[in-house]
This record gives sequence, structure tokens and C-alpha cells, in this order.
Amino acid sequence: MSGLRLTISDLSSGHGQIRVLRDISFSVAEGEVSAIVGANGAGKTTLLSTIAGLIRPTGGRIVLGDRDITRLPAHVLPGLGLALVPEGGRLFPFMSVQDNLQLGAYGAVSRRESASRMEELIAIFPILGERRTQLAGRLSGGERQMCAVARALMSRPRFLMLDEPSVGLSPLMTEKVLDTVTALARRETLGVVIVEQRVTEALEVADTAHVLDHGRIVQSDRAEVLRNDRRIQETYMGL
Ligand code: ATP
Repeated sequence: MSGLRLTISDLSSGHGQIRVLRDISFSVAEGEVSAIVGANGAGKTTLLSTIAGLIRPTGGRIVLGDRDITRLPAHVLPGLGLALVPEGGRLFPFMSVQDNLQLGAYGAVSRRESASRMEELIAIFPILGERRTQLAGRLSGGERQMCAVARALMSRPRFLMLDEPSVGLSPLMTEKVLDTVTALARRETLGVVIVEQRVTEALEVADTAHVLDHGRIVQSDRAEVLRNDRRIQETYMGL
């Protein structure tokens, strides 16, 4: 696959004195869906938070296209084409759906562009059109996740990172959210990094996948290969 890449090289990071991630390397291309799977506490949230500029890495590099973004603060990254959907969505519950969406465009696209982008996204997520004037806090789990994804897409990112989109969702709703995101990746040639504990669902939609275990990537391959790997099935998929 050609085009822009998001490349992580030898990344190390943690919380204060606690070292969580060690020498993480992987890359994702535009239009590609990559899954980072692993058990509770493997370091998945720490990884996305570090890439998104919320935690300062202790070593390694993060490069978007030909630009080193390793030490850039979180707020400039959406403007450079990298957006994060945090775990649980983190919407503003006392603001309407459309005001939450509007915030995703803040500082990244003009007001006029943001109005047309919102209409585009509402066409993709029609339920958000039906709920546009309702408070985000009144959305169901699935609708909330859709709204959080749409909010991140308001800035027209080239790469989208999702932190455990399945949290609080039924398997069916998880599948729906993941399918929509995958369709978007194809349609907008968007690079996607999905961090998931629900390994079966994530490997179902991803092109490539990486297994994170105790802060290290222990296996990387095409998702299809990992899906059929006996050890992955036994350890992570309950088969
Ligand atoms: P989960 O699925 O539970 O979110 P995860 O794979 O996302 O797990 P992280 O949340 O990145 O894992 O946590 C990795 C390790 O870092 C864990 O041992 C956790 O206890 C520790 N940790 C996470 N956040 C902090 C923090 N703010 N301060 C100190 N340690 C933390």
C-alpha cells in the first residue's frame, strides 16, 4: 500500500517512574486497518495515549508521513491529521450531539468546512442526525461510540486511533461500530489503529495486527494469519 504512513519506532513510555511500553515498533498506512490486541493491562491505552501526545515517551520516535511528531502536544495532532477516539468516547454529556461534533473540528478546519463535514458524517451515521439536538449524555452506548468516532473524524484526519471501542457494547453493536469504521477506512483511505481486548472482533476487521503483552509487541502479522494461529486462539479468543 502506498501513501502516507504513521510509523512508530522503538517507542518506550510509561507513567512517572513506571515503565509500561518497551521498544514498540509498527506502522500503518493510509487505508489500512491495524489492530493492537492484548489482555487487560498490557499497555494498550498507554500506547495510544503516547502516540496521541498525551504521555511523553521516554524513547523512540513517532513519524507521520515525513514529519516527526514525537514530542508534539496533543492539541496540535488533529490539525496534522491524527485523531484519537478515547476509551468510552469521552463526550461532553451536557452538550448536544451536534455541539460535540463541532468541537472535533475546533482549530483543525474552518467553520464553513466543519458544517459540510458534519453533514457528510451524519450521512454516514444517520442516527446522529436523528439525535443531533439531544444531549450526548442521553445516547445509548453504541450511539455514543458512533458520536465519538464522528467527532474525531470532523477534523478530516488521515489516521484515526480507537481505544477499545467495544467497551460497554454488546458483541453485535461492537461489530457494527467496527464495520462502520472499516468501511470508512476504505472510503476515505483513512489509516486506522484499533486497540482491543475483544480479540476475535478486532481480528475480524483488521488487515494487520500486533499482539501486545506486558508492554512489548510479541507477534505481528496479517490479521488473517493471527486469527488462525492456535496459540492466539487459545490465549485470547477463548477457543
Ligand atoms: P485496559 O484494557 O485495562 O485499559 P491496557 O492494555 O489499556 O489495559 P494500560 O491502561 O495502558 O493497559 O495500563 C498498562 C499498565 O500501566 C498497567 O499495569 C496499569 O496499571 C499501569 N497504568 C495505567 N495508567 C496508569 C497511571 N495513570 N499511573 C500509573 N500506572 C498506570
